[in-house]
Amino acid sequence: MMKRLIAFAALFVAILSKEAFHGHQVFRIVPKDGVQLSLIKLLEDIMELELDFWEWVTPVDVRVPSHSLQAVKNYLERHNIKYFTMIKDLQALLDEEQKQMRSAGRAGNTDSFDYTNYHTLSEIYSFQDMLVAEKPNLVSKIVIGESNEGRPLNVLKFSTGGSNRPAIWIDTGIHSREWVTLATGILFAKKIVTEYGQDPALTAILNKMDIFLEIVVNPDGYHYTHTNDRMWRKNRKPNLGSRCVGVDLNRNWNARFGGPGSSTNPCSNIYCGPRAHSEPEVASIVNFVRSHGNIKAFISIHSYSQMLLYPYGYTMTPAKDKAELHRVARKAVTDLASLYGTRYRYGSIITTIYQSSGGSIDWTYNQGIKYSYTFELRDTGHFGFILPANQIVPTANETWLALKVIMDHTFNNPY
Ligand SMILES: [Zn+2]
Repeated sequence: MMKRLIAFAALFVAILSKEAFHGHQVFRIVPKDGVQLSLIKLLEDIMELELDFWEWVTPVDVRVPSHSLQAVKNYLERHNIKYFTMIKDLQALLDEEQKQMRSAGRAGNTDSFDYTNYHTLSEIYSFQDMLVAEKPNLVSKIVIGESNEGRPLNVLKFSTGGSNRPAIWIDTGIHSREWVTLATGILFAKKIVTEYGQDPALTAILNKMDIFLEIVVNPDGYHYTHTNDRMWRKNRKPNLGSRCVGVDLNRNWNARFGGPGSSTNPCSNIYCGPRAHSEPEVASIVNFVRSHGNIKAFISIHSYSQMLLYPYGYTMTPAKDKAELHRVARKAVTDLASLYGTRYRYGSIITTIYQSSGGSIDWTYNQGIKYSYTFELRDTGHFGFILPANQIVPTANETWLALKVIMDHTFNNPY
């Protein structure tokens, strides 16, 4: 009896500790001018509403908990602001996602790995180890640091030899709820080892350059999206003097740190942290980039909204290589669209998406890494962060074409 009681209690705790999103909806709000946009932004400061802004691009997508639905609707209607419901039942999407994940089998090697599914942190770690074991002459694993909670920060190095060759950096998963980016990163790793020796362009690149791929930039956050809160974006660092946890790892870089488009409030989803590079997940990359000294392209992958972006985010002053960055971006999104017709917008961060300070590619660009780009993968908001798993492979396939354009251009234009 006691045993059964304990089992029951454990189950109860497990159910309670996982955040549920019953009755939550995602609104798409369409401000007609700057005045309406600032009225929407005011909502973010009303803590009791517990709103979660998914995308700040106009139109604005925001997750509204059930207890705030009526208040938000009243507010928008009172101010004549147009909106509609993008996701009527968030929990139903999450239940579907869980069901799909449970159907995945365990893989003993990277050929039988289920690329059509999302994976837990430990599955991604074991994928990396399997790949290294299978292709030791092409892939190795470097641990560049440790997360706040002590997890390894693994980087896959693809190299055919040489020392300190010019290199291309790719990262996914800096924001933990952007699951499709990590799933895509896994497929990039597999594509690199499969296409080396087959695809002439990639083979030429890898004969002269190295590729570094960090699939899980934010392991604590990613683990937390599986165990507690699917909508978690930041890392899991406790903030001194606040009940709120976590720093936005893409606001923590020393590129107008703490400026517009970031927040100094630890409860904000875009909290920049106590100081630039305060977070080990960021500092590890900073140290790696600095000590390597020969990184020529830095590509950081986010979702969602289908955009390819280059610096700057913090200033309207154009990057000095803007014309070239723009040309390469146009070619990249054209090749991307050639596969399934997926349309991307492209341009500088501040002119295409919004002003943001402390972002990674502004910092890398200022370090002299000319080909600094950010992707925002599928979709444009229909599913948002809960992109169905059957879109993983197409997303990776089309993004790979764009990545190859950037890598190829980097290879052909040494500097
Ligand atoms: Zn992101």
